Amino acid sequence: MVDFTGIRTPFYCYDLDLLRDTVDLASAEADRYGYIIHYAIKANNDPVIAGIIRDRGMGADCVSGNEVRRSIEVGFPVRGIVFAGVGKTDEEINFALDKDIFCLNCESVEELQVINEIAGRRGEIARVALRINPAVPAGTHRHITTGMDENKFGISLPHLQTALDLCSNSENLEFLGLHFHIGSQIASLGPYRELCERVNLIWKEYNIEEYGGYVLNLGGGYGIDYNDPEGNPIPDFASFFALFSDNLRLPGGTEVHFELGRSLVGQCGRLVSRVLYTKKGVGKNFVITDAGMTELMRPSLYQAVHRIINISSSGEPETYDVVGPVCESTDVFARDTVLPLTKRGDLIQILSCGAYAESMTLRFNLRDTAGSVYISNGEIISVTRTEAIDTSESVSATIG
Ligand SMILES: *Cc1c(COP(=O)(O)O)cnc(C)c1O
Repeated sequence: MVDFTGIRTPFYCYDLDLLRDTVDLASAEADRYGYIIHYAIKANNDPVIAGIIRDRGMGADCVSGNEVRRSIEVGFPVRGIVFAGVGKTDEEINFALDKDIFCLNCESVEELQVINEIAGRRGEIARVALRINPAVPAGTHRHITTGMDENKFGISLPHLQTALDLCSNSENLEFLGLHFHIGSQIASLGPYRELCERVNLIWKEYNIEEYGGYVLNLGGGYGIDYNDPEGNPIPDFASFFALFSDNLRLPGGTEVHFELGRSLVGQCGRLVSRVLYTKKGVGKNFVITDAGMTELMRPSLYQAVHRIINISSSGEPETYDVVGPVCESTDVFARDTVLPLTKRGDLIQILSCGAYAESMTLRFNLRDTAGSVYISNGEIISVTRTEAIDTSESVSATIG
């Protein structure tokens, strides 16, 4: 067991060996079919993590100008960068064109018009793909479903023809193809099978090939096992990619791209936290940790379940609510969960925190930013410590 003595809690702990194994497997399975993977950097933009993925030859999928900037800083090749998002600003569009990234994934006819205007002013041609809202249910939590009519994402099918016409009539747009991303933490392959059928139909019905479309980007969303991360640390990428190979019916020469986030990085990270108090309530016992929703927002945001272990105790099992110190009633990591008898000072680990934990950090309550610890071969290889933040400095800078 890794010795964390002397490291200030809470912190994220990343297992770089598991990350490498996961990314290697995903790459190998995608390579069988010539599929291209872009890492969805919003899952975790830590430069060490992103750097390992870049070294494996993947591209990057971004949803903000600053993510494009981070991806370039980390060394992803600009021609491997794609940029989606329903609300790209003019500044972000200009930045993407400055850097000449591979593709802007457009989410509305209105955005397409703006990109055409901006590219026209620059005397350039912007490469675009159209993000389609295919109305495919993802079978996941409704807060992380993206491909239904009620969702803000993508161009819905009644507007696709207008978007295609706009592309072919605009001198400053080059149409590359179609983009889809139907949701996140998708636990079974059923929704992807349905997506393939929908894509096959759309590609034919709208003559995508005749518009010059050769890029099919299927997004990400493949889930991980939050209930048994130790028993099931690496997602079944073989079945995932085979499903697309078996079900897609596209013209030869079509490039198939994916944007994987959680499935690559989710299991390599954990959040390590110290127990501040065990508090007796009415009909409940609370374990109060020094980590809160500010370090891991998923449970309060969409009732996500994470496995929690106490690595300091081997006492008798007890039932607890594990909660953070933040002033919100939803700052709860788990209700009625069983841990060995827990006491002040114990180290608690919340598993499966590699994705959408550190990258969703909040400064609410003026909380300090948690640091990171990287482990390889069971040993700590480096630590980034963000010390307690001195708020007086920024105040005097503002007030003068
Ligand atoms: C978030 C996102 C992804 C990655 O989703 P995961 O569930 O982490 O795989 C891919 N594409 C787009 C457009 C996204 O917004």
